[in-house]
Amino acid sequence: MSRDLSELTIAERRDAILERMASAAKWADRDPAAISFVAVSKQQPNEHVQAALNSGHRVFGENRVQEALARWDKTFASYRADMELRLIGPLQTNKALDAVKLFDVIETLDRMKLARALVKASDKTGTMPELFVQVNIGGEDQKSGVQPNALPAFLKELKSEYDITPVGLMCIPPMGEAASPHFWHLAKLADDHGITQLSMGMSGDYETAIKMGATHVRIGSAFLGARA
Ligand SMILES: *Cc1c(COP(=O)(O)O)cnc(C)c1O
Repeated sequence: MSRDLSELTIAERRDAILERMASAAKWADRDPAAISFVAVSKQQPNEHVQAALNSGHRVFGENRVQEALARWDKTFASYRADMELRLIGPLQTNKALDAVKLFDVIETLDRMKLARALVKASDKTGTMPELFVQVNIGGEDQKSGVQPNALPAFLKELKSEYDITPVGLMCIPPMGEAASPHFWHLAKLADDHGITQLSMGMSGDYETAIKMGATHVRIGSAFLGARA
């Protein structure tokens, strides 16, 4: 078995993860350069985020707008121009303007009311982040995301109402279940709709996700350490 990544420094872990990503890509006959390693910095101490930045990492994901503002609009604002910031957590409509200003990509579009709020915000700023639709791939009651069978109608309505064409789909498979059938399902849904980007896979299953077509893997604890 491979080494326990927790014994390594953040820079070493980054190299190890990139290596594993490349092996998984090779297994699937895919170009490793086409797969993005999104470092999930939520709830991490600044020293860990600084170490990641020092190691050269420039793609980060956050799940809360307020926390992301404190980190990337204040503490690490000097890096902001030169990096990619992605929202991977649920977005409330009253935070849409902050989110449109801060994020390059919003991965969690999941309802028309939010689409309307994002369009309104984007009318103010003159910019619009790239959008992914979050799919509730396991059909879980408590989880956000569009139900898989509601996705075709949702995509159609986004286009007709707001001329929005999402670039990707994102999912978080149910805990305690094998992830691969869900990854396969998300990849199939994307393919059915001509959508080319897939955000799926986290610390425990990013290699599997890459083998099943992920273009973006969201890795927190395996890179930056266990969250407090
Ligand atoms: C926290 C989080 C991650 C990262 O989880 P790890 O298991 O620490 O890699 C990925 N995606 C989302 C949506 C998250 O909220």
